[in-house]
Amino acid sequence: MSYDVSDGISYTLLSTWLTCRMKATYMVQGWERKGFQKSYLFGTIVHAALEHTYRWARKQGTEVDPLDATKEASHAIQTMRKPHLKRASSAEIADFVELCLGKADTVLGHYFYTYPQDLMPKTWHSVEGAFDTSWMGFKCVGKIDGIKKIKKRKHKLKLFETKTRSRISEDTLSDQLDFDLQSLWYLCHAERILGKPYSINSAEYNIIRNPQTHRNKGQDIPAYLEKVDAEIEKKPNHYFKRYAVEYPEEVKTIFKRELHWKLIEFANWVEGKIPNYKNETACVGQYSCEYLKACASGTMIGFAQTHELFNEITQEESIGGKANPKKTKKVEKTKRKKVRKVRKVKKRVGLPRVAV
Ligand code: SF4
Repeated sequence: MSYDVSDGISYTLLSTWLTCRMKATYMVQGWERKGFQKSYLFGTIVHAALEHTYRWARKQGTEVDPLDATKEASHAIQTMRKPHLKRASSAEIADFVELCLGKADTVLGHYFYTYPQDLMPKTWHSVEGAFDTSWMGFKCVGKIDGIKKIKKRKHKLKLFETKTRSRISEDTLSDQLDFDLQSLWYLCHAERILGKPYSINSAEYNIIRNPQTHRNKGQDIPAYLEKVDAEIEKKPNHYFKRYAVEYPEEVKTIFKRELHWKLIEFANWVEGKIPNYKNETACVGQYSCEYLKACASGTMIGFAQTHELFNEITQEESIGGKANPKKTKKVEKTKRKKVRKVRKVKKRVGLPRVAV
């Protein structure tokens, strides 16, 4: 495996490893399913449009009208159209892409009117801020959706996390959020990097529902989106939900202690000191594991080594302050190096080895 712990550990990598070591092996070796991946498209478009619009709104330096934010988000979605359609290998996939773009545009057409407070200049401490930090001897990397200021509490901040969901199970969600690995990972690293006098003891979960409105057979996309639009207009609370979760010091302390144990085990696994194995209980859940076919067939037919580790972490803004162009260049240079590494591995490796 070309991956080394010193390359960094992200939330995605750690959570994948906790789910299934075999899955993490495929991931660090760069394996990805060939062809178009439908599952994350709506979420990817919404996240990118929000990132663009919140950054744009902050630059205005004054309160932004929801209509202007909607137009900006719409424009951002339009710029994503060409690259996504370019990857569509059939008319059916092209239709799916158009549908996701249209749904994202329709949903965000209501979103900024639901949360106009997000468009105030003093709301944000950072938006999509990246970090790359050393903690307990481990290099930890990530990108945080947002860190918000808390009104009248000068140095108190809160984490802002956006999740897109088709289904929302409110009963389990609030319990799950109380010790959510992703939030605590971001929250603890951000608090440490920002240092005193800042403190982050809470998170705001921004849940955006992916519309599941039935599309009639042969119904064209504009007619379908009109139906979606009318539904959101009628029930905005069904599509947009926000949860506030407090993370007291005791919760953070327990999290950090357990995180340290997890990172030690992860490093031991990378070094081959503990075994690699499949977790058969994690193959099919709400979504099927993308490597199901690989594990079932014992071959990598239908997969290619194209995935770049940490490709989601770019550094336009760091949570410590403003964008550092030198750092951005460094990240790009590292990315290029990693692409070269993946190519080398592609030549060398056929099937993933069972032992890491
Ligand atoms: S299919 Fe199951 S065993 Fe194989 S990588 Fe995925 S989760 Fe692990």
